[in-house]
Amino acid sequence: MGFISDNILYYKNILPPDITLVAVSKTQPVDAIIEAYQAGHRNFAENYVQELTEKYAQLPKDIIWHFIGHLQSNKVKYIAPFIELIHSVDSYKLLKEINKQALKHQRVINCLIQIHIAREDTKFGMNETELMQMISSDDFKQLNNIKVIGLMGMATNTDDENTIRNEFKMLKTIANNIKVSKSSTKNLDISVLSMGMSSDWKIALEEGSTMLRLGSSIFGARN
Ligand SMILES: *Cc1c(COP(=O)(O)O)cnc(C)c1O
Repeated sequence: MGFISDNILYYKNILPPDITLVAVSKTQPVDAIIEAYQAGHRNFAENYVQELTEKYAQLPKDIIWHFIGHLQSNKVKYIAPFIELIHSVDSYKLLKEINKQALKHQRVINCLIQIHIAREDTKFGMNETELMQMISSDDFKQLNNIKVIGLMGMATNTDDENTIRNEFKMLKTIANNIKVSKSSTKNLDISVLSMGMSSDWKIALEEGSTMLRLGSSIFGARN
């Protein structure tokens, strides 16, 4: 046991029980994931399909895998058999492909819609209008093999706490707006807010996050 398991136990101790901690294991070797696993951790996230499928093949099958990177439609088929939650759905085209692949495997795949909340335009995601149009379309209601259970957002990479806080507030407001508009169908039930990384998770928790995505604060710096 070493610092990775210490970090896992540290976060288990301080986080409220209803918060899901997702350990972002991208670029980390399989051994690092096993150390966290042996400390009792099960939720891990990757951002490249190939890296994820290679790790999936080598690691225990009760790991709960999350996908958090930009996902190309033609790669959905590789993760569809086992992925638990895709955080980074940023187009209707992608959602339809996830539905198609999930159907092939007789599954329902949980999805979060990634919302563009940051100032930088390098970050992917939909805006609120696009999201509302998508979920209110008749076409969307036919997608029986996906379930949209929440939203994901990445705040601007800045030291300015207020900017970060306002961006998280925006994500929470959009989630509330969906609940109020109650375009609720059986494939739409918003309860998850995936926001907060190593540098901003405390602010994210204060602003209503239910799911933290922590990489470097668990595994150490990536090269
Ligand atoms: C890498 C990554 C994280 C984790 O970043 P850290 O700063 O190492 O905690 C979280 N979310 C996404 C989408 C990422 O790509």
